[in-house]
Amino acid sequence: MISKSLLLSEPASPAHICPFDQACSYLEAAAKELNLNQGLLEILSHPRKVVTVSIPVKLDNGEIQVLAGHRVQHSDVLGPYKGGIRYHPAVTLREVSALAMLMTWKCALLGIPYGGGKGGIAIDPKRYSVGELERISRRYISELIKDIGPSVDIPAPDMGTSAREMAWMMDTYSVNVGHAVPGVVTGKPLSIGGSLGREMATGRGTMIIVREALADRGKSLAGARVAIQGFGNVGCAAAELLYEAGAKIIAVSTGAGGIFSEVGLDIPKLKVYATENCKSIVGFPQSVPISNADLLTLPCDVLIPAALENQITKENVNQVQAQIVAEAANGPVTLEANLALEARGVTVLPDILANAGGVVVSYLEWVQGLSYVFWDEERVNREMEHLMVQAYRKVIHQSEIRQISLRLAAYTLGVGRVAQALTDRGLYP
Ligand code: GLU
Repeated sequence: MISKSLLLSEPASPAHICPFDQACSYLEAAAKELNLNQGLLEILSHPRKVVTVSIPVKLDNGEIQVLAGHRVQHSDVLGPYKGGIRYHPAVTLREVSALAMLMTWKCALLGIPYGGGKGGIAIDPKRYSVGELERISRRYISELIKDIGPSVDIPAPDMGTSAREMAWMMDTYSVNVGHAVPGVVTGKPLSIGGSLGREMATGRGTMIIVREALADRGKSLAGARVAIQGFGNVGCAAAELLYEAGAKIIAVSTGAGGIFSEVGLDIPKLKVYATENCKSIVGFPQSVPISNADLLTLPCDVLIPAALENQITKENVNQVQAQIVAEAANGPVTLEANLALEARGVTVLPDILANAGGVVVSYLEWVQGLSYVFWDEERVNREMEHLMVQAYRKVIHQSEIRQISLRLAAYTLGVGRVAQALTDRGLYP
């Protein structure tokens, strides 16, 4: 078992909010609500395995750089570790450990037979060539070869990675073991066993949860004013699907800044514009520039932070005017901000529910691969929708019967399921 103090020996994040501490405080709150015994809480507070590997890579200019790659395996009580691999400059071992823990509760909440894991390399992928990224991805996975596998730990895309990296990783793993192993990763290209619907899955899941939450408030997506922070894989898919459903997307942003339109942005045209302008959206016709900070405080029905952690904090929470905040990113609302929003009657749809669409379709991809039967997109979306709506209903029910926030309700469901399994399995030896 890994000592928590080992993770905490890393310097604290610049924002002074340690993501692992935050994840542990959510766990502790759920444990208190569930009356979990101290021993179970101790076990669940520690990742089962933490691996950091060196990744020596030859850059295109001939220089050699050595990167650190992490993989944290939080729990495999319910099944193989499952979770994405993140390439982002802000990656730290603490963050990866926190995200691995979140994956455990997310999979348990959604009722899919996985534990939780997460990987990451602290790089800005935009500063590396495709060839360099390929060498980094292949060496990283080859260093982890003994720690992953289709029934051990199944990586997937996360921020900064996509189907392309998954294909390199699947190939590296397969070449090393001597035969094709498509089940070692999910979020793969269709050509090697990927699933239809996977790319849009996280954004689709967010759209479904927002739709349900609006319906519970007697409203519909049609005409709802929505602001989205982030126009990457998740934010862009959510924007597109919400737009199709008739919502008015009044603002979106990227790391380089955002745009606003009172009458709503034409999302299909914006997608084309972003592709033509190397992902930059500022300057899109009939929009005005807006900062990321101002986007969060716009008057709107739904605010979707779909970028980084800790965006809504005690500093800006009082300016947030949305009725519903849907956490498409992991941990975009801090603990204190969450409490302040709840006190004002704002619905906060927690990350482990609102962004679970990705891992749900990863599970459906894995199931299709194991059964050698591949479904059409309509079936994938239908099965995913069923699991998402079911989890949403359970969270609402739990929050009503226990009189607790949606976040705590989601955590008690996720943590409770893992704790029950741990109790039934017993402690070895
Ligand atoms: N990275 C995504 C998440 O955080 C997907 C993980 C997966 O598909 O395993 O949920």
